[in-house]
Amino acid sequence: MQYSTLASLAKQLANKETSAVELATDYLARIKADTTNSFITVTEEQAMAQAKAADARLADGTAGPLTGLPLAHKDIFCTEGVRTSCGSKMLDNFIAPYSATVVEKCAEAGMVMLGKTNCDEFAMGSSNENSFYGAVKNPWDESRVPGGSSGGSAAAVAAGLVPATTGTDTGGSIRQPAAFCGITGLRPTYGRVSRWGMIAYASSLDQGGPMARTAEDCALLLQAMSGFDKRDSTSAQQDVPDFSASLNQPLAGLKIGLPKEFFNADLDPRMAKVLEDAIAEYKKLGAEVKEVSLSNVGLSIPAYYIIAPAEASSNLSRFDGVRYGYRCEDPKDLMDLYKRSRGEGFGEEVKRRIMVGTYALSAGYYDAYYLKAQKVRRLIQQDYITALNDVDVLMAPVTPTPAFKIGGHSNDPVAMYMEDIFTLSLNLAGLPGMSVPAGQIDSLPVGLQIIGNYFDEARLLNVAHQFQQVTDHHLRTPV
Ligand code: GLN
Repeated sequence: MQYSTLASLAKQLANKETSAVELATDYLARIKADTTNSFITVTEEQAMAQAKAADARLADGTAGPLTGLPLAHKDIFCTEGVRTSCGSKMLDNFIAPYSATVVEKCAEAGMVMLGKTNCDEFAMGSSNENSFYGAVKNPWDESRVPGGSSGGSAAAVAAGLVPATTGTDTGGSIRQPAAFCGITGLRPTYGRVSRWGMIAYASSLDQGGPMARTAEDCALLLQAMSGFDKRDSTSAQQDVPDFSASLNQPLAGLKIGLPKEFFNADLDPRMAKVLEDAIAEYKKLGAEVKEVSLSNVGLSIPAYYIIAPAEASSNLSRFDGVRYGYRCEDPKDLMDLYKRSRGEGFGEEVKRRIMVGTYALSAGYYDAYYLKAQKVRRLIQQDYITALNDVDVLMAPVTPTPAFKIGGHSNDPVAMYMEDIFTLSLNLAGLPGMSVPAGQIDSLPVGLQIIGNYFDEARLLNVAHQFQQVTDHHLRTPV
């Protein structure tokens, strides 16, 4: 059962070979024995209650395709009555008074939440080392990072602690940890999944999505998560297709674009080989491959690391020690309360982003940095639109290398930012993208990135699923 997919567990539930209570009990036992630090909070009591309710639905014929299946949410999604920490000391004592739309939708589908997964503080990071609750370890090699910021969500699936999780991807935080942990992750088009109740990092970039073993499972979970939400003003009024219906469409004639800027001489030759092999599989499936250009993509790191901190500095101003969250001891006046609550409550990386963002937005520098970054963002988006007019999907690496060592970048924030080189530009453009296990380097998983046009998640899932029908990278497990 440990490494089962949602799809196979759903069949077992339908055939009465197992029950929701049995599944929850089994996975909770594994979570208790976990050595990766993937979970911040385990919600055993609620899980058992949800599992019993799911079994009742399965018995009386009111179950849906996901009823009774276990999942865990990244601890950035508010969960009513359950601590929602966002990996921060600032929210260590915060019990959310309501649930995020995503959490509500998964619960309505009858899914059983086992707990909240570890993440970088306020989703800022690429290694999950920035969590107040400690670093998460990569189940493939516990001396290595699982990626970030949805590192707990990725590691938990890879370790078989839960069959699927939610994550969020502001600059790569679904795709990069999925790649490092050898699982499948999908960052949807901006606006496809409601951000309501998802703690804001950089609002114009944040987007929640599914993380699971297979594309088929991502389709199932995305189905539950997606849809217009009037409580999120940037939620898209777009029809939600049946993501599972088109999984088996043949790929003959599929047009794949390879952005030449991503396949340049700097690409690690071992990574290039994995991608080459993956693309060869697609050719066998009938796809046509051509080179495309994203000429401004080299500017995505500087543009992102202005825009994301700018938005973060504004979003995180609400944590002031007054309304909720951490408050310092014995403040001597209001200013002392603000300063010490924020000084003591936020970690180092979060403070760095707030400083950078505040600077970039300040009156004297707004035009030079923020406005400039927004113009660059538009150029990058335009490059993608042009490329995707010509081809159906783009393929690229997800990460420069496989998972790096814990502590490997601890004194060098810029080296950490460089880890995002292949993922950030997609967020600046608002596009959907996936990471699919594509091979290994030194016995560590690496991913293939598949990027699609706006709201074309069904095609991405189809393209990933077909690959998973002819390869077995997604079936490999750490032990
Ligand atoms: N590593 C990027 C950052 O730190 C992306 C994080 C994310 O997608 N949440 O901003």
